[in-house]
Amino acid sequence: MRRQRIAVLGCTGSIGVSTLDVVRRHADRYEVFALCAHSQIDRLFEQCCEFRPAYAVLRDGELATALTRRLAAVGVTTEVLFGSEALIELAGHPVVDTVMAAIVGAAGLEPTLAAARSGKKILLANKESLVMAGELFMAAVRAGGATLLPVDSEHNAIFQSLPQGFAGGLAACGVRRILLTASGGPFRDTPEAALAEVTPEAACAHPNWVMGRKISVDSATLMNKGLEVIEARWLFDCPPERIEVVVHPQSVIHSLVDYVDGSILAQLGNPDMRTPIAHALAYPERIESGVVPLDLFKVARLDFTAPDFCRFPCLQLAYDALAAGGTAPAILNAANEIAVAAFLEKRLSFPGIPRVIAATLERLAVGEEGTLADVLAADFEARRVASAMIGECAAP
Ligand code: NAD
Ligand code: MG
Repeated sequence: MRRQRIAVLGCTGSIGVSTLDVVRRHADRYEVFALCAHSQIDRLFEQCCEFRPAYAVLRDGELATALTRRLAAVGVTTEVLFGSEALIELAGHPVVDTVMAAIVGAAGLEPTLAAARSGKKILLANKESLVMAGELFMAAVRAGGATLLPVDSEHNAIFQSLPQGFAGGLAACGVRRILLTASGGPFRDTPEAALAEVTPEAACAHPNWVMGRKISVDSATLMNKGLEVIEARWLFDCPPERIEVVVHPQSVIHSLVDYVDGSILAQLGNPDMRTPIAHALAYPERIESGVVPLDLFKVARLDFTAPDFCRFPCLQLAYDALAAGGTAPAILNAANEIAVAAFLEKRLSFPGIPRVIAATLERLAVGEEGTLADVLAADFEARRVASAMIGECAAP
């Protein structure tokens, strides 16, 4: 069997590192063709030394030159490129079979779209690309003949709980609802008044998952679940009213599918992203991921509650943006990225995050999703408006 050639976009991040950990266990199956990162040169250097990819990509020329020098000094022949054009080109490179889309945020959209258009097997972690341009993205997947496999743990669980080979048509498969589980984040039980005082450090200390800082804050505000509702709508062509969020603090059930005959199917496991990564990498086969088997006796109990839409307004904002359609989810996503960055830099309080997003959505007219240019224009405009709102919304 020929080894699958993989491009890992966002290789230095939490998902990227977990991906390479699974790949490392299966050198007979996978070959790393390209490693793409933003600016973490030390980590990328180590990864290049270990995996010897044909290409590596960094944000700018200065970093690329520095990496080239360091690699040459140790005899590694990886060609180092830089910038978004190189990223897009490698995501659609004819030699690549599989693309791990694990860049965080809107920056992931264009390279992931390139992979879709080029008919790659896409392991999708970058949910923001589906949130911004779900319709365009799914059309590109169909037109390019790409295979889209969800890596987000909830969507991977749903995919595993749907009939084998599911390719659309939930109603025909007898699906009544999709139940997306949410841990509730680190502030699940924090009283509303105390949320004004929470710090970025506390927001990033997730009780069950170790993740990048942006998605950690998204988990704390429940915007992550809102983005996932939008992601599920596109991935499974599911009407929003059939997607329900269930708070499940143990993060053992990764999501569930409710069928018309009364059956509910779920996928369980320890909260470790190497499980969905290994599932998507090897699909439809199964491979070792390095994840510790789930000990049900240790878990002992599973709890479920409804989400609190009052303390966590981001979830409703996401449902509303999905209902509004067009560029509303792209505006929501861009405003969220700006607000989260401001929160992480201590320029905005935690409750200020939904305030900035709501104010941005109020100020901007929603347009047609139309073309990629329309989506990028909405993203640009929303960033401008949201940045201007930070000051106004900064008070706790
Ligand atoms: P992270 O912050 O740990 O890593 C982000 C990666 O993207 C890094 O390699 C960084 O170099 C790269 N990157 C950032 N900006 C870039 C740019 N402009 N150009 C090129 N590369 C850029 O993030 P993460 O936690 O690994 O999350 C990555 C994606 O996966 C996000 O979309 C997130 O929502 C999704 N996801 C993550 C998890 C998780 O457990 N971490 C779970 C589900 C989904
Ligand atoms: Mg998730």
